[in-house]
Amino acid sequence: QSTWAQIEQAPPDAILGITEAFKRDKSKDKINLGVGAYRTEEGKPLVLEVVREAEQRLVSDPNLDKEYLGITGLPEFCRLSAILAFGEDSKVLAEKRNATVQSLSGTGSLRVGGEFLAHHYPNKPILLPKPTWPNHNKLFPLAGMKVEQYRYYKPETCGLDYEGMLEDFRSAPEGAVVLLHACAHNPTGVDPTKEQWQGILDVVREKKLLPFFDSAYQGFATGDLEGDAHAIRLFADAGMEFLLAQSYAKNLGLYGERVGALSVVTSDPAITKKVESQLKAYVRPLYSSPPRHGAEIVVKILSDPQLYSQWRVELQGMADRIKAMRSQLFQALQDVGAPGTWNHIVDQIGMFSFTGLTKEQVHNMTDKWHVYMTFDGRISMAGLSGSKCQRLAEAIKDSVS
Ligand code: PLP
Repeated sequence: QSTWAQIEQAPPDAILGITEAFKRDKSKDKINLGVGAYRTEEGKPLVLEVVREAEQRLVSDPNLDKEYLGITGLPEFCRLSAILAFGEDSKVLAEKRNATVQSLSGTGSLRVGGEFLAHHYPNKPILLPKPTWPNHNKLFPLAGMKVEQYRYYKPETCGLDYEGMLEDFRSAPEGAVVLLHACAHNPTGVDPTKEQWQGILDVVREKKLLPFFDSAYQGFATGDLEGDAHAIRLFADAGMEFLLAQSYAKNLGLYGERVGALSVVTSDPAITKKVESQLKAYVRPLYSSPPRHGAEIVVKILSDPQLYSQWRVELQGMADRIKAMRSQLFQALQDVGAPGTWNHIVDQIGMFSFTGLTKEQVHNMTDKWHVYMTFDGRISMAGLSGSKCQRLAEAIKDSVS
């Protein structure tokens, strides 16, 4: 008798399960819009040229180093990541108010941040937008935090429920943590405007809420690294204390290398030092130290002006292809005469679009049209190509009619 005889089968991961079903489908017309990773027009994964170049330089370096990194990772990686997020001239950096540690991509950075909060900011819930990236709902409770929700998306408009969001912030317990997607909200593709971000900042400050920014798409959302950091910099420049999780999965295509950073911004450099020492105390027993290869790629690119500008061009290229898919799909929906309004397809930003399709309609998309997507109606624009827009539009028309 096995020790584990009584164990129950855990449900498959909602998103990864879709890829499995897609692989099993024999149809030649099948389309996978479930993936959360960039694909070329030909549907292929992409390794950026700038990453290939940085890797070449790394492996040909006679001083190639495979020693352990320190607990907080590569110091130059942390410094450059903070500059990328806060901006070269940020007061936060000048005043040394950020404790920035390298961690395991976005997920690991969120998790270390969650562990830190659970212990050093106890009994405060974290409010997540409704809906949010599903892993938020899993990782924060496992880190020891109580999860609550705030209104974010308005199905009637396929846009932001700004009033609902602010109401929920106003009625939140004082000091609650609020998770904010820095840009390109996943899964909805709906972001606040600059004016709305200012309104959010005002309420966060008034209610003494503690923001935790999740920045998984800086530069990938619009091609503009500065523009996509607007919300983070607004809060930083306002002198707020907050946390920030950064990921290089999408904007550098370093998905499997697991490169990211966690920053805790405080109001005082002496406190920041103590915070950093406590972050170390959580990282050491979790995974000792982060992996070095991906972080070294990032340092090569961010510290070399030529590679940096090459990155910006390639980033713009990815963002532009996604934008082009939005307008081509919108056009195709008009052409086939799909009932309803579809402006949200072009208004939303980032990799995903929230189509507004119901669970039943998504079943029709998959069962009849071999189009794979998540049951909440989310499609990955990055998984689409020009040649598939017509068929996708027809599938959507059939499913909503
Ligand atoms: N946060 C959001 C909102 C995301 O969409 C993702 C990836 O899909 C992540 C965090 C973390 O991704 P990773 O751990 O691969 O960096």
